[in-house]
Amino acid sequence: MKNYIIFGAPGAGKGTQADLLAKKYELIHLSSGAILRHEAGRGELGKKIKSYQDKGGLVPDRLIIAMMEKQIGRTLKKGLILDGYPRTLQQARALDRFLKIKKAKIDSVLNLRLSQTEALKRLILRGKTSGRSDDNAQTIKNRFAVYRLQTAPLLDYYKKQKKLINIDGRPKIAVIFKDISERL
Ligand code: ADP
Repeated sequence: MKNYIIFGAPGAGKGTQADLLAKKYELIHLSSGAILRHEAGRGELGKKIKSYQDKGGLVPDRLIIAMMEKQIGRTLKKGLILDGYPRTLQQARALDRFLKIKKAKIDSVLNLRLSQTEALKRLILRGKTSGRSDDNAQTIKNRFAVYRLQTAPLLDYYKKQKKLINIDGRPKIAVIFKDISERL
């Protein structure tokens, strides 16, 4: 089975494309943001998670790495699409180490490319219906800054591994999906 990462700035369309890919190729879609939102609010740890998310900052590496390893370990035999993870170099290295132990690997990293202006428009629109407390102007600004500083460097990490596939994130959902399908 193949394992993929869907990569891109906030609002680039990762979740949407990951859902479609999971259906078509029978992959397990693991969204770190959704997993964290599920935990958020439950007990002391949940409160902490929610406060990081609401500010647009990242949840500490140690915590998210442990959470994702638990989920990935459970689903590896089926083929994965990781959405929102890894988001820092430390997470990417931890993921490679973990997969190696499990005798698995990431096959490709799909990078959805979209300008910040366009992504911002989508997130503001999504905020009107998503009910997500982090889809507001100030938090979005922080999420973009975090993306630029901590997450974008991963592009180089996966480029060096020759796994990076750049995808134009501007067209309609179905057009992007067709493009991705053709390139996998
Ligand atoms: P988006 O990609 O649109 O910003 P996500 O649902 O992927 O939305 O993530 C929402 C929030 O969850 C992030 O802003 C961050 O606080 C937290 N989060 C998600 N994935 C990670 C991760 N891999 N490491 C640390 N924090 C994360």
